[in-house]
Amino acid sequence: MRIVLRSSLSLGLLVACFSSFAQISALFTPYDCREHAEMFYDEPVAEIALDSVAAVVAVEEPIVLPDTIDGWKTWSSVENYTFGKDRGAMSMITDVQALHPFFRDKIKQLMAACRENGIELAVVESYRTHAKQNEYKTMGKKYTNSGAGRSKHQYGLAIDVVPIVDSVAVWDNVALWKKVGVAGEKLGLRWGGRWRKPYDPGHFEWTGGLTSAHLTAGIFPVVPDTEYPCMEEDLKLLLKYWKAWEVTQSAMTRR
Ligand SMILES: [Zn+2]
Repeated sequence: MRIVLRSSLSLGLLVACFSSFAQISALFTPYDCREHAEMFYDEPVAEIALDSVAAVVAVEEPIVLPDTIDGWKTWSSVENYTFGKDRGAMSMITDVQALHPFFRDKIKQLMAACRENGIELAVVESYRTHAKQNEYKTMGKKYTNSGAGRSKHQYGLAIDVVPIVDSVAVWDNVALWKKVGVAGEKLGLRWGGRWRKPYDPGHFEWTGGLTSAHLTAGIFPVVPDTEYPCMEEDLKLLLKYWKAWEVTQSAMTRR
């Protein structure tokens, strides 16, 4: 009798677990249920007296938090020639989430300001790994003068954009670039359209007054708590994600 009760009880538990897995996997896809399933199979069934059945049935469902460790995998990226130009073999991260939080806000403002004036901007590249930077370096001066770690892109403090007209990236409309550039400068951003070597009108950056030497030393711009209260936590997570991309792309270099 006792054995029958125990097995039907554990069956009930298993059924309850699977139905909650189905719900959870619908919430957080892709969801790999294997390790959680193992967790339940390993769990010894406790000796339970008859009058405690109700309590056991009401046992709390396991809390499964959305996986934040792998958030970097969901960042949008594009492949070479997406915007009509040769940008090398490694994919480019285009997600604004990959940017330093304060700079990210500025870029969102820039895109909104341009949209208000009828200019649609596409992100060509936001954060850039050291491996990707090295790839540009080998592609020549037309691409960059800076080696790995020397571009603001490696700190999430630079972005490359391009205006899109009739679904096509427009790289050579100087008047259009000027409008975009001025909008960025109004937000306190540094605009690559003022440079000559190379002229880089799609490039915007912001360092809060820091130099490249500060950035390579691991110092990030100080942003007042009133502007962005949880900067430290967000940066910590970003650094983790950047590292994950770095590991992935530097593995491509070695191949
Ligand atoms: Zn750039």
